[in-house]
Amino acid sequence: MASLSLKNICKVYPNGFEAVKDFNLEIEDKEFIIFVGPSGCGKSTTLRMIAGLEEISSGELRIGDRLVNDVEPKDRDIAMVFQNYALYPHMTVYDNMAFGLKLRKVPKDEIDKMVKEAAKILDLEKLLDRKPKALSGGQRQRVAMGRAIVRNPKVFLMDEPLSNLDAKLRVQMRIEISKLHKNLGTTIIYVTHDQTEAMTLGTRIVVMKDGLVQQVDSPQNLYTKPKNLFVAGFMGSPQMNMLDAKAEVKGEDVYLNIGETAIKLPPAKAKKLVDGGYNGKTVILGIRPENVHDSQMFIESSPNTVLESTVSVYELLGAEVNLHFDIEGTTVTARVDPRTQARVGDKIKVALDAEKIHVFDKETELVIT
Ligand code: ATP
Repeated sequence: MASLSLKNICKVYPNGFEAVKDFNLEIEDKEFIIFVGPSGCGKSTTLRMIAGLEEISSGELRIGDRLVNDVEPKDRDIAMVFQNYALYPHMTVYDNMAFGLKLRKVPKDEIDKMVKEAAKILDLEKLLDRKPKALSGGQRQRVAMGRAIVRNPKVFLMDEPLSNLDAKLRVQMRIEISKLHKNLGTTIIYVTHDQTEAMTLGTRIVVMKDGLVQQVDSPQNLYTKPKNLFVAGFMGSPQMNMLDAKAEVKGEDVYLNIGETAIKLPPAKAKKLVDGGYNGKTVILGIRPENVHDSQMFIESSPNTVLESTVSVYELLGAEVNLHFDIEGTTVTARVDPRTQARVGDKIKVALDAEKIHVFDKETELVIT
């Protein structure tokens, strides 16, 4: 069993800086957990506390049932893979992987079996005699993983393991790591600031900001049901569009007024604003670029959510086009079909998919609906 429990974990550095504030998380056996957030949010500090490389200022950390706050890193049954793979340059791939086992006085034939098994999983069998300098970045990264795998740890900790690789290799390694997780059946905790990596790898994602956990959820839920403005803006690329809007209640209907344009909310969403007493208040309307449509058919079927503007930027990305335009001083992006006729300077109409509208409280930045 490799469950982990983090209760009220805090980290205050000797200079008084609070890097992690009241972190709570129950991690189940075999989960692939991602810590994601902007630079300096406390992801690495949290991971290093789990590894035992950083002292826990307060709170309780359990691996399985064992309280490990004061347990040495080497006795925690975890393996850590860093972004700079830290391979020994004078050793072969085989020796790099075997090194930790030799130190632990594991019998030679057992070491041989473990290294070869790991090499097979990571497709390194043909490279065992090479030195690191004769390997590509991706191969080096796999050796670093191999070194962790041979230890047969209960938990893998990975701190931005792909950040030194080029874009193409990152995509490949992402798939490798996903496979590795399935094959090994271990718990993985993985730190990244890259939201795409987080979305594609994680079974659950922990979004952090300024040392505080913002939301813990499945990739799908984080994307479709962000709890606050920060999570909504951080997950997804291009970013969710955010527009200031004044809420106006007319009977049971609720309109969000953006300048002269009124966007009518569907009944269930409208009710949340009525119940929350938002009539007359400025809120934030959030809509993802893929939910802003420019097709004639969509616009005709959605007369209550139409916006008009002039295209300022046209970006062809191959399978899709991003149209950028200004609405009341805010740049809005629509991700549309590449067959769109719209080009820079054209006056366009777009319609929002009303069911996909998010509304946030401007003061608390929490989601209303
Ligand atoms: P990045 O993505 O840039 O690695 P991160 O989310 O992993 O960022 P941490 O490395 O955990 O962030 O750092 C969290 C905060 O703690 C940062 O503001 C950092 O400056 C601060 N910090 C880190 N180490 C120390 C230290 N030894 N003493 C004081 N403050 C520190």
